[in-house]
Amino acid sequence: MSETARSTLLSSAANAALMFPVLSSAQIARIASHGVIRPITRGEVLIDGGQTNVPFFVLKAGEIEVIRASALEEILVAVVGPAQFTGDISMILGRPAQMRLRVSDSGEVVQLTRDQMHALIQTDAEISEVLMRALIHRRVAMVAEGIGDVLLIGSGSAATLRIKQFLTRNGHPFKCLDLDRDADVQQLLARFHLEPAEIPVVICRGEAVLKNPSNQEIADYLGFNKGIDHTHLRDVVIVGAGPAGLAAAVYAASEGLDVLVIEASSPGGQAGSSSRIENYLGFPTGISGRELAGRAYAQAQKFGAEVMIAKGAAELACEHNAYGVRLDDGVTIPARTVVIATGARYRRPSLANFGQFEGAGVYYSATFMEAQLCNGDEVIVVGGANSAGQAAVFLAQVARHVHLLVRSSSLSASMSRYLIRRIEETPTIQIKTRTEIVALEGNGHLERVRWRDGTGAVTSQDIKHVFLMTGAEANTGWLNGRVALDAKGFIKTGWDLTQEDLAAARWPLDRSPYLLETSLPGVFAVGDVRCGNVKRVASAVGEGSIAVSFVHRALAE
Ligand SMILES: Cc1cc2nc3c(=O)[nH]c(=O)nc-3n(C[C@H](O)[C@H](O)[C@H](O)COP(=O)(O)OP(=O)(O)OC[C@H]3O[C@@H](n4cnc5c(N)ncnc54)[C@H](O)[C@@H]3O)c2cc1C
Repeated sequence: MSETARSTLLSSAANAALMFPVLSSAQIARIASHGVIRPITRGEVLIDGGQTNVPFFVLKAGEIEVIRASALEEILVAVVGPAQFTGDISMILGRPAQMRLRVSDSGEVVQLTRDQMHALIQTDAEISEVLMRALIHRRVAMVAEGIGDVLLIGSGSAATLRIKQFLTRNGHPFKCLDLDRDADVQQLLARFHLEPAEIPVVICRGEAVLKNPSNQEIADYLGFNKGIDHTHLRDVVIVGAGPAGLAAAVYAASEGLDVLVIEASSPGGQAGSSSRIENYLGFPTGISGRELAGRAYAQAQKFGAEVMIAKGAAELACEHNAYGVRLDDGVTIPARTVVIATGARYRRPSLANFGQFEGAGVYYSATFMEAQLCNGDEVIVVGGANSAGQAAVFLAQVARHVHLLVRSSSLSASMSRYLIRRIEETPTIQIKTRTEIVALEGNGHLERVRWRDGTGAVTSQDIKHVFLMTGAEANTGWLNGRVALDAKGFIKTGWDLTQEDLAAARWPLDRSPYLLETSLPGVFAVGDVRCGNVKRVASAVGEGSIAVSFVHRALAE
């Protein structure tokens, strides 16, 4: 065997050494104390694609091939040799395996169940670091190279973009073929008896075909929520997996609480759509929102938090000393305490045909993915706050020209000085103050935009991409007034709750609400959904972690 001698999809990656580190004999002995040692025989399939409860192997002798196997083909992805280990982040996330592992040279392995592997990474900091780093690097490479069990056949439609965003934000590797650009697509459609009108389609492991699936259908099919018990009474149920919810999950799970996170879409929330967060402590060169979210998601699961994807909370019920979070599919999850971290959603201009351009020319985030769509084109960024400034500066690197449309008369009151300076220093960004969009036109995709400036003059220009960075409204509709809200719909907590709020909510305790506690005892609100929040990743993370100390107190009452 020699990993370098054989050409595999991952062997040429720049970070191959980080993905496939070699363990010391002392480290292997420590891992072995958590599992069993057993022989392996050439040709034996240790794990197959789609398998759940995936075991973890450290090779003592022999060789294992990592293969992407589908009904269409088998492709060698990597080769694992002595003192190396198997697995990718799916193991930590509790998702089904994406690859087949087949023994290519007989030998011996240390084998751990998923639970044993979890116990190992929670107790052995040195091994945890080596394993987690490798598993994250493997997943990043798989996503970058599109090495996974999903093939998406799509077009430039909004539905295709939605599916791409959902898979990308959930860190699920996929390969995408475009009906209009890739030559092999017609053959593939014929093979699966599909008509072009039926795309986008998701093909899993070369077998199952999902036609224009909802995010929930994709999550269910790919096993994102497999094994999560709906009936079990948890110490804390966290609603929302943005920075605030994920931070609460990391702290609660690492402090021994039984945690379930419910996320309507994908982990990361608004931060997940940020191209580069430059003001988060400890990242002097910035970090993309997706990377931060992916790391936090893995971290929460490493400590044992469960995360339910593509399931929205639809109601908060109070039932005899416990709460119930009813999901949009009708299931109710019981909880001793609840942390609400549902954040906020973007404001949209009130244009009748607006919805038809969402994802087809109108975007709420400006990441690498959206930037690719407008390479060399003219774009509009709407908004006067930091997110708009970041988007304008980022898009100016790829777009021919960026029009920054601002409703107010200047940026100084709403945007950080450093961003204003960068915008002023970028000749391809043009600021248009006291200006707003009055019409969007196009057939299937945005083609033309009309805007009105402060003088009342209307300009019409052929522009195919509009990035809306215009602020957000609290995601509190699902609470149906169960907790006290401020006039703008954000949740009141702690000192913000007046005696009238508490009387209206029939606050039952002698003590006042804790910091971050809502008008219901044991129900907390953190991050952008909370009244008085400061709309920053760091503050959302801080509030999520602080809330956990009050969750402990509420549980002890
Ligand atoms: C484009 C952009 C760039 C930004 N850049 C920066 C930056 O550089 N620095 C910075 O400090 N801040 C930045 N921000 C702000 C920062 O991202 C937010 O302050 C932060 O994400 C708030 O975190 P949160 O967890 O409170 O809420 P959110 O991030 O809004 O997350 C809420 C989560 O709850 C989920 N949810 C909503 N309703 C339900 C429901 N009923 N059931 C289940 N789940 C639900 C949502 O899907 C979402 O995932 C940026 C924001 C945007 C939009």
